[in-house]
Amino acid sequence: LGGLVLVAVDGDLIPVQAFTSTDPGEGKKKLVVLGTGWGGMSFLKQIDTRQYDVKIISPRNYFVFTPLLPSVTNGTVEARSIAEPVRRMLSSVDFYESECVNIDAVNKKLLCRDASNVRVKGKEDFEVDYDYLIVAVGAMSNTFGTEGVKEYCHFLKELEDAEKIRESVVDCFETACLPHLSDEERKRMLSFVIVGGGPTGVEFAAELYDLVSEDLASLYPSVKDLVTVTVIQSGDHILNTFDHRISKFAEEKFQRDGVTVKTNCRVLKVNEKDVLVKEKATGQEVHVPFGMAVWSTGIGTRPVLTKFMKTIGQTDRRVLATDEWLRVKGCKDVWAVGDCATIEQRKVVDDIAYLFEKADIDKSGTLEIEEFQRTMEKARERYPQLEVYLQRQKFRHVVDMVKISPGDAKEKAMHLNVDEFKKSLAQVDKQLKLFPATAQVAAQQGAYLAACFNALPKKDYKPEGPERIRGEGRHRFRQFQYRHMGQFAPLGSEQCGAELPGDWVSIGRSTQWLWYSVYASKQVSWRTRALVLFDWTKRLFFGRDSSR
Ligand code: FAD
Ligand code: MG
Ligand code: MG
Ligand code: MG
Ligand code: MG
Repeated sequence: LGGLVLVAVDGDLIPVQAFTSTDPGEGKKKLVVLGTGWGGMSFLKQIDTRQYDVKIISPRNYFVFTPLLPSVTNGTVEARSIAEPVRRMLSSVDFYESECVNIDAVNKKLLCRDASNVRVKGKEDFEVDYDYLIVAVGAMSNTFGTEGVKEYCHFLKELEDAEKIRESVVDCFETACLPHLSDEERKRMLSFVIVGGGPTGVEFAAELYDLVSEDLASLYPSVKDLVTVTVIQSGDHILNTFDHRISKFAEEKFQRDGVTVKTNCRVLKVNEKDVLVKEKATGQEVHVPFGMAVWSTGIGTRPVLTKFMKTIGQTDRRVLATDEWLRVKGCKDVWAVGDCATIEQRKVVDDIAYLFEKADIDKSGTLEIEEFQRTMEKARERYPQLEVYLQRQKFRHVVDMVKISPGDAKEKAMHLNVDEFKKSLAQVDKQLKLFPATAQVAAQQGAYLAACFNALPKKDYKPEGPERIRGEGRHRFRQFQYRHMGQFAPLGSEQCGAELPGDWVSIGRSTQWLWYSVYASKQVSWRTRALVLFDWTKRLFFGRDSSR
C-alpha cells in the first residue's frame, strides 16, 4: 500500500473501561473533538471521560483504516471491512454526525452543519460550545490548482473514493468490450493513469496491476493486451521518501510488469479524455489518454481551517502551526493533531544569547566545559533537535569545531565565548524535521494529548504554560516526541518493501507476509480484523470479485 507506515498505536481502539463515565458531568470541562480519523480516535480511545464532558463532531460516523484503502480499490478487501462505527468504538460519549464549518476561538463556539442526505430542513446548522477543542480534521487531496482535476480525476482519500475507483475500473473493462468501439477507443478506455508517485499512488498502481493480471486478464481475454498503466511523477524517482533500494526495486518491478513510469513530468491540465503532461527536461508537452485517472499528489487544507487560520493570524499556511505541546499558535485552549497540523519547533539559534547567559553561572563571560555540558543536558528536553545532535557529535567535537588545537585545550577549550558557543551550535537546528503526514504520527499525537489531558487536573496545568528553559518556570509535560516505527511500500504480486527502525531495509515476499501480519494486528477491532482476514482468504481461493 502506498507508503504504508506501521502504525504505532498500542492495542485496540476499543472502548476502554475509563470511557464509561459514571458521574453526572457537573463541573466537568467541555471537551470537543473534531474528526474521527486516526488522530481523533486515538485521542478518544484514551481520554478519561470521568474527567471531561466529551463531544465528538465528524461528518462520518465511522473510522477508516486508511492503510488498506488501496486494497479496496481492486476488491482485495471490502470497504465495510475497514470501517468501524464510532458509536461502537466509544459507547458513552456524545457524537454529532455533522461537519464543523466555523471555529470561533474567541467566544469558544463551533458552528456545525448536518451535511448528510437526511436532515431537518431549516435546521441544518447548530452551535456547540467548548472549553477545550481538539482539531483532528485531517486534510483533503490537493489539486495544486490544476485545471480539470476535480472534474475528471478520482482521488484516493476516503472510503467512497476507493469504492468509486473499484467500480470505474470494471466499468472501463466492460465499456472496452462493447462491439461498436474502435481499437483506439478501446485502448483509451483501458489506459489507467496515476498522477503522483508517492506511496499511495504507487500502491494503487501495484494493486491495479494485480487486479488486471491476476483476475481481469482471464475474464476479458479479448481486450487484455490493450491495458496500460502509467504513473506520472514530478520528481526523479517514485517513492522518493523511501530508502533508495526500495525506490529502485519498485521502478524495476514496474518496468518488468510493463507499468510505465514517467518521471520528471508535470501535469498541466486534465481534459475529459487525456492529461496534458510536460516533460521537465525537454519542455515537450504530450497528451496521455485515459479511461480512468487517479490523482494522488499530496494534501491540502480543509476550508474550515483556512478560515480559522485567518482569524488567528496564521495566514498563507497549508496546515495549522502548533507548538511542541500541540497547542495551536495564536489562540487559547485549542490543540491540533494529525494531518491538519504541524509542530513548529523552537530553534536553538534564536535563544543563543539567553542560553549563554543562563549557562554562564559564574558570570565570567565564558563557558567552561562543565557549564556547557550542564546546559546541554538541561536544554535537550526543550530542543529535541539537540538530542539528535548530541548523540552524533560528542562534546569533544564541539571543542574541535571551534578550532581549538589540542595543545590549547587545557586553557582555551574550557572557555567558549558567546560567539564560539553560537558557532558550536550552528548546525543543531539542521536536525529539525517535520513529521510526515501519516497515521503513525496522528495516532501518536492523539495518544500523547489524551495522556496530557488525563493528567492535567492533577497537575495544576497552566495552559499558557511557561517554558522551563526560558526561565519562566517549569512546563508540566514533556513535549510531544515522535517514535518512527518504520514504513511499508507494498508493490504488488506479493512483493513489499519495508523500512524498519535501525535503518533496516527489507524487500520481497517475506516482507509482504510481515505486512499482512502487521496490518492484521493493527486493526481497530476484532470485528474488522476478522473481516479483513476473511477477505484475504477469500481472494486466495476465489480471486477478486469483478462485478461492478
Ligand atoms: P483523518 O484520519 O483523515 O481524519 C480526519 C477526520 O476528520 C475524518 O473523520 C473526517 O471525516 C473528519 N472531518 C473532516 N472535516 C471535518 C470537519 N469540517 N468537521 C469535523 N470533522 C471533520 N498513514 C500511515 O501511517 N500508514 C499508511 O499505510 C497509510 N496509508 C494511507 C493510504 C491512503 C490511501 C491514504 C489516503 C492515507 C494513508 N496514510 C497512511 C495517511 C493517514 O491516513 C493519515 O495521515 C491519517 O489519516 C491522518 O489522521 P488525521 O486524524 O489527521 O486525519
Ligand atoms: Mg482525526
Ligand atoms: Mg444527518
Ligand atoms: Mg487522512
Ligand atoms: Mg563561565
